[in-house]
Amino acid sequence: MDTAFMRKTFALIAKGLIEKEQLLQKEPTRYPYSKALQHGINMFLAASQQAGCQSAVQYADETSFLTHFITKPISDWFSDWNPDIIDKLNFREEPFYAYEAFAYQRSGNIYTPSSDCYEFLEIQDNDIINGTDERILYEKMKVLDQETYCKIRRYIIEHPIITIEDRRAMSLDLADNQAARDAFQFAYEEITGDSYRCPCCGWTMIPGKYGYHCHSTHCTDIIPELTDERKLDISAGELYRLKKGIMRYFAAPGKLELEIVTFCEKKKIRWALWPQMDRYDVEIQFANGEIWEIDAKAYRNPMALRTKIQNDNGFPEGEYARGYFVIPSEYTVNQRNYTTIVNRALTNQKNVKCVTLKSLKTEISRKENSCHAE
Ligand SMILES: [Zn+2]
Repeated sequence: MDTAFMRKTFALIAKGLIEKEQLLQKEPTRYPYSKALQHGINMFLAASQQAGCQSAVQYADETSFLTHFITKPISDWFSDWNPDIIDKLNFREEPFYAYEAFAYQRSGNIYTPSSDCYEFLEIQDNDIINGTDERILYEKMKVLDQETYCKIRRYIIEHPIITIEDRRAMSLDLADNQAARDAFQFAYEEITGDSYRCPCCGWTMIPGKYGYHCHSTHCTDIIPELTDERKLDISAGELYRLKKGIMRYFAAPGKLELEIVTFCEKKKIRWALWPQMDRYDVEIQFANGEIWEIDAKAYRNPMALRTKIQNDNGFPEGEYARGYFVIPSEYTVNQRNYTTIVNRALTNQKNVKCVTLKSLKTEISRKENSCHAE
């Protein structure tokens, strides 16, 4: 057993949990089995035995494994391991080790994958995202011209929930571009059942037996109680929301992109969203012609972002003076060394670094001021 073995173990467990969720959506009355999950469980238990936990074998069947482990933070899974092994394999530097629980209990032995589980799986090299809503939408959007692409992507970010009138108005607006209208309509689904507007992200929050759930477990962590005025009134007519995967992958990181643009607009700095067919997220050009490219990243776990950057071979090449991976400023509240961890992977790209949104704004202002001082 080595670090690569453990990475694969957690990738299989995350993949398995999401596969089960997908199966359950298709056939709600059947218990969903995932080979990937059982494979991951077997690998974890084999590794545990090698690390000195003789009791691991009692969790070999899926139900007892899920009951015992799946709603606990990942570092807790190793509480019975020999600590020397954890040090020797350097687990504290691994993305999986820093994650909270991969799932929460929905009912009985049904578990819903957490946003941490989705985030972890996203940095893995595998094909599970093929065939998902976000991938299909991306394929539909890719063929659009730059202006229409930006228009629809921006609309999606700004409107997690729309009314039937909004849907009609936008469809009418796109009437002469069938591919664009099709992409737009695909992004949304009708809301059925009781839901509230999430005060955190603006998507739907649904009360269930084990508390509220939204697209992100982080929303539910900070919402104490939902008031009646947040309840969505379906009686007034149909409402639509973004499909979950589209909310997660398009809309959530998009807020950061739009915030950068709003800031540049205020400073009268030239900007472009998703330039060069989405090669970057935001491009800005200063008064002296200098270009900066920016990639917005919404990974809460710095080790996950670092792995993702390494898998992508760093920041995309291009004719820019500086490149930035920018993260929401609040991510550093509990992880003060977030950017330091990521920047260790960027030492061979001297003009690229990872910063918080707050520091990026400071650097943009400083640069713009120096242009006017010249
Ligand atoms: Zn939310």
